[in-house]
Order: sequence, then structure tokens, then C-alpha cells
Amino acid sequence: MQWIIDFLMLFFPSNCLVCGKRLHSPRAILCFECEMKMPKTGFGDRGDNPVSKIFWGRVPVRVGTSLFRFEKGSAYQTLLHDLKYRGNRRAGLYLGRMLGQELKHTSFSDCDLMVPVPLHHKRMKKRGYNQSEIIARGASEITGIPVAAHLIERKGHSQSQTSMNRQERFENMATAFTLCDGSLDLNDKKILIIDDVVTTGATLEACSQVLFSHFECLVYIATVSCA
Ligand SMILES: [Zn+2]
Repeated sequence: MQWIIDFLMLFFPSNCLVCGKRLHSPRAILCFECEMKMPKTGFGDRGDNPVSKIFWGRVPVRVGTSLFRFEKGSAYQTLLHDLKYRGNRRAGLYLGRMLGQELKHTSFSDCDLMVPVPLHHKRMKKRGYNQSEIIARGASEITGIPVAAHLIERKGHSQSQTSMNRQERFENMATAFTLCDGSLDLNDKKILIIDDVVTTGATLEACSQVLFSHFECLVYIATVSCA
């Protein structure tokens, strides 16, 4: 099999997305060194970590966690940027698998379902994929937790949030999601919501609220990066 990989690499050479060094595996996006140096949070499933604390007093999320810290100007930001804006799904699967490895031996591992934060259908059409779903698929490969990509729907409010202040973001988000598959009974289930980045937590809070308003469930949150 190695010769096939070597052969393919001749035509599809890839480089480490962080340092640019030539890679030797078509599945990798980072070299060994850059993977080792990733600014991982190490938050694991601690209930009092900074990501969990974002939701305190707002919504009863059991535990939140992130794979790495979002540092301004850091080359690791490129990974999420490539996934989100440059169509690099391979980067998303890779990051999802890394996230899965972090969750595998924690209380996240026996979640019943992974729910990626949905994109508005217009944005989805334009981009062609939901980056959170790709991350969830990668994490699912490692953890075995099934992905429910169409449980929650994002309605209206398709405008970008980047120009809004904090208060406007929260108001914009509060009504942005609805449950679209009412046939599932998720009472007493452990549900893991997946997103690429957590900053103010408004999006994830709104998604959690949708679940809590329909089910008596436990909600966990995992993102690739946290600000
Ligand atoms: Zn590298």
C-alpha cells in the first residue's frame, strides 16, 4: 500500500499547514513537530475549566472543552480558516479526529449523540458544507458517537455576526435555532454539541436552549478552538 501512497504524493504533494514543511502522508495536514507544539488547552472534562465557565449562570451545560487556544496571529488559526473559507475539509476531519482523541478517555466518551452547530441553509448552500459537521465526523471516527447533523436547524438571521456587538449577538442568536427532527426521544440522553470555535458562547448557548426546551437531557460542548 505504501507505494500507492508514495505514488499519489508525487501528484498531490501536501505541506504542513502550519510550517509549510513537506508531508509524507496524504491524510496529515500537520507535520509531527507542529502537531506536538499545538497550543492544546488540556482542559479535558474538568467542570471548572474556562470553557465550562463561559456557560455558568446562563445554561446548565455539564462540561465544555476545547482542543486548542485561539491565539491571535498564531499559525494554528490557519487550520480553522482553511476549513471555513478555503474548502479544506481534510483539515476539518483531521482536527475532528484530534478533538476525538482528547475526548476519548473522558466523561465525553459515552455521549449518545453529537450535534454539530448548524449553518443557515443559505450559507450552507454557498459554502457547500458545514464546518462543524465535518469536525463532528472526524471526532465520531475516533469516539464512535453518532452524528445527528439535522437535529437542529438554523432559521433566519443569516447575516454575519462579526459586525455586531456582544449584546446584539446574543439577541440575534436567542431565536436563531429550532428543533427540526421531533421524532427522536432524547430524554435522559447525553448530547455533545460540536462547533469550530467558542468565543462569547452565544451560539452554543442558543443551541443548548433548544435541546433543553424539548428534552430533559445532559448537554456537553466541545470545540476545536477557544478564544
Ligand atoms: Zn509543521
